[in-house]
Order: sequence, then C-alpha cells, then structure tokens
Amino acid sequence: APPGAELRARAVIDLAAVRANVRTLRDRAPHAALMAVVKADGYGHGAAPCARAAVAAGATWLGTATPQEALALRAPGAGVPADVRIMCWLWTPGGPWREAIEADVDVSVSGMWALEEVTRAARLAGRPARVQLKADTGLGRAGCQPRDWPELVTAAVRAQAEGLLRVTGLWSHFACADEPGHPSIDAQLSQFREMVAYAEARGVEPEVRHIANSPATLTLPESHFDLVRPGIALYGVSPSPAIGTPQELGLRPAMTLSASLSLVKHVPGGHGVSYGHHYVTPGETTLGLVPLGYADGIPRHASSAGPVLVEGKWRTVAGRVAMDQFVVDLGGDEPGPGAEAILFGPGDRGEPTAEDWAQASGTIAYEIVTRIGTRVPRVHV
Ligand code: PLP
Repeated sequence: APPGAELRARAVIDLAAVRANVRTLRDRAPHAALMAVVKADGYGHGAAPCARAAVAAGATWLGTATPQEALALRAPGAGVPADVRIMCWLWTPGGPWREAIEADVDVSVSGMWALEEVTRAARLAGRPARVQLKADTGLGRAGCQPRDWPELVTAAVRAQAEGLLRVTGLWSHFACADEPGHPSIDAQLSQFREMVAYAEARGVEPEVRHIANSPATLTLPESHFDLVRPGIALYGVSPSPAIGTPQELGLRPAMTLSASLSLVKHVPGGHGVSYGHHYVTPGETTLGLVPLGYADGIPRHASSAGPVLVEGKWRTVAGRVAMDQFVVDLGGDEPGPGAEAILFGPGDRGEPTAEDWAQASGTIAYEIVTRIGTRVPRVHV
C-alpha cells in the first residue's frame, strides 16, 4: 500500500484468529486433511499471509479458483512450503496448464476439453499432471454430469496409463450445505458416492475424495471423506445465519475494517445528506464523514442501513454511500477529526460484524469481506 494509506482506512487481519479457526475446523473433521481455500485474495484477507497461517495450524492443502492464484502461492515470495499441495479449479481454454504441471499444482478437470488440454501440456512438460476429476453431483455449476462421467473417467484412465497424468482426487461441491436438512444434501452425497465408486471400479485410486465446504465441515461429518475444503470459516465468518454465529461455531472473525473520520461538523435540522438527499437531519446534529465508499467495497445497498461504531455508539450510514465516502449522524457528539469508525470486526469491542453488514445490505457476509477494495491496506497482525 502507498505510504500513509492506512491513515484513512485499514483492514486489520488477525492471523492468530485464522490459525485458531483452522485448529477448530480440524477438530471438527479429525480424520480428514484440511484444504484452506484462499481464493479471491484469501476472501479479501490476503492470500499468502492467510495461507502461511493456515499451514502453520495444520492445513496441508491450499485451494484457489484460478490457476494464477495457485501459481502466485508457488512463487518464492509467498513463503508457502514446497510440500504443501495446491489445487485450483477454475480453468478456461488456453490456460496455463504447463505452468501448473511444472509448479506441482493439482488441477481440476470437469470435462473433455480440459482433459485434452492438460494431457497436451503434460506431453510438452515431459511429466504427468496431477488431475482431480470434478463431479457435478447436483450443484449445476462446474463438474461433470453423471451421464458424461463414464467418458471422462475412461479417458482419464487411458491418459494415466500413458503416463500423462495421475488422478489424484475425485471431488464435488455442495449447493445447499448452508441450509441444514435441505434434501439436496443427501442426494448430492449419494450421487458423489456413486460417481466415486464408478471411477474406483475402473482403476482410479485417488489420494483424496472431497466435497465439504465450511458449512459441511461444521455440520456434516458424513461429508468429510479424506479432506475438507473450508473457505469462509477460516476467516471466522459464518457461512449463514442458519449454521450459527461465529461465536456459536467457535470461530474468531479475523478482519476488522475501520476508518478515521475525516470531518466532523455541525449542521442544522432539515439538512439533506449525501446524493439524492435520502437522509434529512431530524434536528440540529453533528455529522461525521467516513472516508470509505463503494469503490472500497462498501455496498451501496447499505445506504441508510450499514452500522458503524464511533466512540462506543452504533451509528447508521446517513443517506447514500458514495464512491469514496459516506456520512454518519453522530447525534451531537463531537469526536475529533481522525476518531476511529469501526465498520465491522469480531464484535468483542461492541462493534458490528460482517454478518451485520450483510444483513444491512441484503447480501451474504462472504460478499462483505471479499469485496473490500485494493485501496484499503491490509495490515496483518
Ligand atoms: N470449494 C469450492 C469449489 C468453492 O468454490 C468454495 C467457495 O465458494 C469452497 C470450497 C469454500 O466454500 P466456503 O467458503 O463456503 O467454505
């Protein structure tokens, strides 16, 4: 971050919380390995520092969406030990298969085009690719449909016999694990077992079979198989209110987002505030200017709703969130310029949480933490 950027606003990331969350998740899945999902810059918390913290607490795998994210974790500066396995799953045609093979990255394959590209790259690299076949057991997103599975498995087994790849994993992803009791959960589990059995009957010997994201890691032991793959819970954020609060789940929120008030001023009653004048001061009051806006990832949908802690009191976004700033009504209080405004954190100082912002913005806490922009420095402690 440019010098002094943190004076305006900062996201402080408590890496001890990440380590504690990894230990909590490992306790919940004691017989499985743990893949720390650090895609999207570690859900906005910083991929490399969170990866190192997760590994220090016992994660043996790292997961990313794009191959670029995976390769960045293999760069020497990332500080990830070479024996930590890394897997990525979001490929597009022409992607860096050869680089992934040479960097010992496990790659996900959902269909024939990807299998063809990865085997071609393995020939060029002169070494086998580590391929994890992804099954669509019901999510309807990435993954191979059951009816196309025999073709994909057969082709992978053939390529394995030719020394072009090793099928290191069979895996899938849940659609509704954050809704306990949803009928799709059992349906996906039995479809997964069937597709795994089919592949194993044809000679595939995967090192890992996995399907569990955070909610499944926390609530569904029968989904743990050989490895669990939590993301959001690593950062101490709840997958959904139906699963529980971070406290109920034994998780410690890692990110505290705060800013320094850049102006505090007196205004008369009846004064319109911010674009569109959607807030009008009910009487004479003080307004505080928070120097964060939607360009920093503060949802515009939090206009007139997002909570902020200033000098021990909850205040609410007054009127619209603008690109770089928003206003809070301080009700006559006069904190000095530079006073701290905490948008969210663990809640132990009385501040709102990412879950509170999600509720105020009509979204999920995942979106609140991952969308914090690059203009906000991450300070790892
Ligand atoms: N696995 C895959 C394929 C994902 O896309 C994600 C994230 O969405 C995860 C695991 C982690 O999910 P969660 O953050 O709910 O734990």
